[in-house]
Amino acid sequence: MIPAREALERLREGNLRFVSDARNPDLLTGHTRRNELAAGGQEPFAIILGCSDSRVPAEIVFDQGLGDLFVIRVAGNIVAASQVGSVEFAAARYGTRLVVVLGHSQCGAIQATLEELQQTADHQSRNLRSIVDRVRPSVEALLATELRHDPEALVRQAVRANIRVSTNHLRHGSEILEQLIEGNGLLVVGAEYSLETGLVEFFDGPPGAG
Ligand SMILES: [Zn+2]
Repeated sequence: MIPAREALERLREGNLRFVSDARNPDLLTGHTRRNELAAGGQEPFAIILGCSDSRVPAEIVFDQGLGDLFVIRVAGNIVAASQVGSVEFAAARYGTRLVVVLGHSQCGAIQATLEELQQTADHQSRNLRSIVDRVRPSVEALLATELRHDPEALVRQAVRANIRVSTNHLRHGSEILEQLIEGNGLLVVGAEYSLETGLVEFFDGPPGAG
């Protein structure tokens, strides 16, 4: 398995290809690769926890093929038990060393949470509420600042706060992941995809990691 920093570089390069519309023509998505993976098993080099938003498919924005990414998608890229379990599973079973929490600009789940906190939202179902409730603690404090007068800046900062909280939750909310971070070079980083430019900005990992 390639080390975390190398995996991060591979994602950066793939994203730059996507942004410049220079997708890899040798990208492995054909039937040869499919057969190979079916017979030989998978070895995804990165785990991506991203938002379900139709505009942010991880394989496309990172220009990767079959078998490259282990992707978990949920509205608002929130971290609940099943997301932690999925990350643990992939990191432990496949030896994947990089985990990226991928949020994005104009995230609907973040906007819905802010609306709900400002009490302009309609009554939500219990199921949708479970997502909003996960996002709320990371964005609530922002509403006490001057940002509340600037809706666009508020959403921008809320998206970033939510990515940071999800990242920290993965770093510290699982014994298995903590051990892999301590002893096996697992790196958990946050990143934000810009709908406007197509660019993914990676946030810094913890010092000395990877
Ligand atoms: Zn979203």
